[in-house]
Formats: sequence, C-alpha cells, structure tokens
Amino acid sequence: MTGERRMPRIVVVGSVNMDLVLRCTVIARPGETLTGRDLQEHFGGKGANQAVAAARLGAEVWLIGRVGADGFGDSLLQGVQSAGVRTDYVQRSAGASGVAVIQVEDSGQNSIVVIPGANGCVTAADVLVAADVIRSADVLLVQFEVPLEAVETAVGMAAAAGVTVIVDPAPARREVPAAILSADWLVPNETEAEVLTGSAVHDRAAAVRVVRQLRDLGAKRALVTMGADGVLLADTADRLLVAEPFRVRAVDTTAAGDAFAGALAYALAGGVSESEAVRIACAAGAVTTTRHGAQSAVPCGEEVRQLMQQQPEAGYLRICTD
Ligand code: ADP
Repeated sequence: MTGERRMPRIVVVGSVNMDLVLRCTVIARPGETLTGRDLQEHFGGKGANQAVAAARLGAEVWLIGRVGADGFGDSLLQGVQSAGVRTDYVQRSAGASGVAVIQVEDSGQNSIVVIPGANGCVTAADVLVAADVIRSADVLLVQFEVPLEAVETAVGMAAAAGVTVIVDPAPARREVPAAILSADWLVPNETEAEVLTGSAVHDRAAAVRVVRQLRDLGAKRALVTMGADGVLLADTADRLLVAEPFRVRAVDTTAAGDAFAGALAYALAGGVSESEAVRIACAAGAVTTTRHGAQSAVPCGEEVRQLMQQQPEAGYLRICTD
C-alpha cells in the first residue's frame, strides 16, 4: 500500500443482495395463487449499491461482505466488479446469497421479504483480514444490513487509524453500540432518525430537534436526508445547516439514499469542502430518482456534474434560520 495514490480510497462494509421484483395486478394474499406479469432481477444490497455509487464517480472502492455459493452470488460479484469495485474481500459463504423478494402491484403498493443469506454471515474476522486496506483508506462507509459486530470492528479500526467514518444507519435499528454512533458522519433518513432518537420527524421544527439529538448520541456530524425536502445537518460546532434539493422529475426513489451515501464518501475522500461534498451527494441522490432500479439507477460523474451545472444554486449548505 505504498507509492503515489491518485484516486480517493473508500472501503465499504456491507450487504450484497439480489432484488427479485415481481410485478402483478394485486399482491397475493395468504393462501392465494396469482399469475404475475413480469419478474426482474436487480443487483442491490445497501453495501453494494453504495460501493457502486462511489466507484462510478471515480473512487477506488473496496467492498467487504459476503455472497452465497449460488448462481446469484456469481452474478452479484460480476455486477459490482463491472462497476470497478474491488471484491478481494468479498467472501463466498456455503449457503444462499442475500435475496429481497419485492412484489409490486399496479397501485404502486409493494410488499418485501428480505432473506439476509450470506450477508448474515459477515463477521468481525472478515473485517480483520482487510485491516491493511481499511487503515489506508480515506473513508470507511458502513450500513446495518450485515451483523453490527462486523460493523463495529470496522468502525473501531478506521477511527483508530484516523480514517473518516460515515455511518448510514439503515435499515433502522433501535439498539446500536455507542462506538458506531460516534462516527464522523451519521446520515440517516427521516425514518431511521426517528427510530434512533425515538422522536418523530413530522415537520421542519421536529427535524431540527432530531438532528441535534442525533449529535447528542455521539456523532461529530449528523445529517438527516429528507427526500425531496433536501437535507439538514448539525455540524461539528453544532451549527444547523440546510441544503435545498435539486429539482428533478422523480420516478423511483429506490437507492437514492445509497447514491447519496456513496457520493458523500467519494467527495469527502477526495478532500472537497463539507458543503461541496453534501452538494455532490444531493445531486447523486436526485439523479438516482429519475430512473428505475437500484445499482443500475446510480449515476456516473458526468451526470452529477451536469445536474450541478444546470442548477447552480441547489444543494449548498446554508445556515438554517427556521
Ligand atoms: P432514502 O432513500 O434513504 O430514504 P432519501 O429519500 O432521503 O433517502 O434520499 C436521499 C437524498 O437523495 C435526499 O437527501 C436528496 O438529496 C436526494 N433525493 C431523494 N429524493 C429526491 C427527490 N424527489 N428530488 C430531489 N432529490 C431527491
């Protein structure tokens, strides 16, 4: 790990999933058999999505996780590799890969069953074998779709080495070790922020209270993503800042949060200012909503740059006066 380094280096510890999307007129009820219309396979999993998001923007990204010994495992590995993600530390487990079965009916309602599969087998030992790459990274990015023991090990190792730690606390969990929450950046969406703090985010005033509560949990910076309402940040000096969103025609918000987190990691690893990093992340999240899919919807650098040029005022942090 010596020599001149040109690209920002990011390590992601997280999940790799196959999303099976079944389209049907109505979702099957218990005991019912229905004929569906269409089945699509999408590469997903928060870890893989965020790794791909950072890699598409131009970072050197290493993913630590697990896939199964099944055919999905082969496809999932190829999927992240084709986006340029390093998979040296993605191990194969004996059983099945992580799978999400998503039924979507014509009304737009969905029902989802997630089988963690190999993701549930990620251990602290899997993280320890990647110690060199974690310690030499600019940013460590983690979520909660793999066991928290592995997440905590990675966070502890990165923090001790002075690596910037971004925690996306998704899916929402109530009980999270304090060592994980004391990240450099804690970036929940509104639902995750509610679960972590126990306070509902029903309006801007409530969001302001919640973002401060999140910082009180130990995070150096807490940032709540609020979909089309932009983001709210409590920074290291406990100042409150807001960023107005980019205006786009959203058709599917799947993976917007993943694109946001991956792009934030990319930007911070590249050494840009806090405000510029949040702006790049907002633009990446916004572009992702303009098309269907998870990993496939995550934008490349050119698309993010274009949106930032088209909307030069959007996405910048400014002091919140609300
Ligand atoms: P999650 O997918 O985790 O619920 P959000 O929906 O908050 O996360 O989206 C993450 C970020 O993506 C938002 O903070 C915002 O910057 C951007 N984004 C999401 N939805 C939209 C939208 N409809 N219009 C513009 N930007 C959006």
